[in-house]
Amino acid sequence: MEKRPPQDEIVLQQVSSSTVVAIDPRLGSNAGAVVFEDFIVAVDVGMRPFASREFRRVLEATYRRPVRFVCVTHYHADHTFGLGPFKDCVVVGSAAIMSALAKSPDWTPEGQERWRVGDTEGGAWLQEVERVWPTLLVHGRLDIVRGEQRLELRASPGHTECSLYGYFPAEKVLFAGDLIFADQVPFAGDDTVDPERWISTLKSWVQLEVAQVIPGHGPVSDTTEITRQLEFLETLRANTLTALDQGQGPEEIVVPRTYAEVREPWFVEKTVRRWHSYYAGGQPRADAGPAAD
Ligand SMILES: [Zn+2]
Repeated sequence: MEKRPPQDEIVLQQVSSSTVVAIDPRLGSNAGAVVFEDFIVAVDVGMRPFASREFRRVLEATYRRPVRFVCVTHYHADHTFGLGPFKDCVVVGSAAIMSALAKSPDWTPEGQERWRVGDTEGGAWLQEVERVWPTLLVHGRLDIVRGEQRLELRASPGHTECSLYGYFPAEKVLFAGDLIFADQVPFAGDDTVDPERWISTLKSWVQLEVAQVIPGHGPVSDTTEITRQLEFLETLRANTLTALDQGQGPEEIVVPRTYAEVREPWFVEKTVRRWHSYYAGGQPRADAGPAAD
């Protein structure tokens, strides 16, 4: 008889022989990992500390080796609030993440209050959130290597200025972070979003040998999702330029119908505002608004 995990256990989904992901609403974003010969490298660990701790417990119990490295794909709270249970690991981020974390409104008392109010279950978990600063910074590219195995990390602005992705060439697995929102309209409204670099990164992935894509949100996908997200972003760019040509405001930008699902209406509202000001040549606005995702 198949042994079923207890209800509160975080379930690991095998992606390739050495890579796994946990996709669980309690984590708030996808948590991935590469299982090396004698240690584990996590790529994002989620948002709620109790769920992140459970992710680590299940990883270490399943593979009987410790998590040594944690790669953080960008500064957003749903990817950094859960770092506390991993603070003894080497925490790796893009060099740009330090100032992004320092400036993020999510760490202010008001920001924490917004998260608490927005949490359907009262946000008691927020009391456990600790700010963990990366200890190893990626300027360009950094590889984590063990024997024949290699995880390539690249700083790659797009979704945010401090976005970073991972590629595990031996098994053609891409850890995309929020450069891919699978099966849904991406959040592209960060104050530091760079549509042009985001588009060029996705174009470079089309040339890369990729069998599986682990997105920041949504199910494990393949290259068709890269192409689809690229089409969404390129169409949004064209529609933004058309609106600007016609002297229209951000609310008149036509949002491509590539995806049926919009997780939050404010994703779209912030996205069109940011793209409008980006392509109008305006400076990023530091408006508070809802917490980033
Ligand atoms: Zn994000």
